[in-house]
Amino acid sequence: MTKMILPSAVGTTIGIIGGGQLGRMMALSARQMGYKVAVLEPGTGSPTAQIADIEINAAYDDITALKKLLAVSDVVTYEFENIPFAAIQEVTASGVGYLPQGHRPLEITQNRLREKSAAVQCGLNTAPFADVSDGPKLRAALADIGYPSILKTVSGGYDGKGQWRLKSESDLPEALEVIQNAECILEGFVPFDKEISVIAVRSTTGEVKTFPVFENVHVNGILHLTSVPAVLSDSLAEKAHKLAKDFITKLDLVGTLAIEMFVVGDEILINEMAPRPHNSGHLTIDACNVSQFEQHLRAVCGLPLIEPKVVRPSVMVNLLGQHVEYALEQWQTSDFSPGHLHLYGKDENVRDRKVGHITFCDVDTEQLRKIVDLFLINFPE
Ligand code: AMP
Repeated sequence: MTKMILPSAVGTTIGIIGGGQLGRMMALSARQMGYKVAVLEPGTGSPTAQIADIEINAAYDDITALKKLLAVSDVVTYEFENIPFAAIQEVTASGVGYLPQGHRPLEITQNRLREKSAAVQCGLNTAPFADVSDGPKLRAALADIGYPSILKTVSGGYDGKGQWRLKSESDLPEALEVIQNAECILEGFVPFDKEISVIAVRSTTGEVKTFPVFENVHVNGILHLTSVPAVLSDSLAEKAHKLAKDFITKLDLVGTLAIEMFVVGDEILINEMAPRPHNSGHLTIDACNVSQFEQHLRAVCGLPLIEPKVVRPSVMVNLLGQHVEYALEQWQTSDFSPGHLHLYGKDENVRDRKVGHITFCDVDTEQLRKIVDLFLINFPE
């Protein structure tokens, strides 16, 4: 069932499951487009709730609360992938409300094994990987994949959490301990030339658009800088767009699919995916003719998508809890074009948690050098 959900004078409402910064930026776009916003989040006063019209506080898998959100909303979407997919399956099957993405994007991306297997089934390349749910499987996988490799929890890991680098056989005892406590996947370590991402958006009507390729720098497994346009050959950029478009279409997904990739020579390997707007796409707000948040809303509302273009070459710097004070000082005083500041309204500046970002636009080579110097090399630990 495809519907066109238009804003209306009486208040058409977009419901968002999850109250973090992605929901907040989605809600800001929704408001700009004339929609009302409802949010479901366990805690009160979340970044999204601060600007929502309706706040429902309950666990993400509270069926009564989910049904309430669906009942007050004309369309419901989600802003993060760790919502138990069975709960979404149950409420969508109940026939209450309209959640056009369904549970499948969550089911695929909540589990690294399912996610990588889906990529392989669609003919895409990944790092070598293996299910290592017990000791013999881990030993066999290490014999096959070798060192260095990365052990990752199959679910629940984010921002570099739930990952262990295995450099040599001396790391095996710790790895054996890890797999006793969590289901894990072993991945071969990829000596990549660079990391990129492509954000694909598919509407309920089947229309698909991809954003320009973003180039990403991670520090300690957490995204640190994103720049656009990516420095990439035309053929690699084309390959990246094509695989993102084909993938979201073959999987028959609706909404946003952000795909992180490794570039190794002429090859592109899929690293991971998220069924929602993505941190590497935050610069679309200031750098592109349409933001990933507006495009996502257009997709779930069945509105025509906009062909995304880079309007201003830009660099986004993520602000983690430990960076904010230093970064705000630089932001006020730096002698080049001040960036666009986005703070997420979080209660505390928690270490290694994202509390905001700055996007520097119209960046030339000299400014890029200064940004890297101020916001990468000299950032506080
Ligand atoms: P992930 O949570 O899987 O996206 O991993 C976070 C970051 O760790 C990635 O963006 C890479 O910088 C690094 N990483 C993850 N997996 C691998 C791999 N198989 N080979 C090399 N680096 C990796």
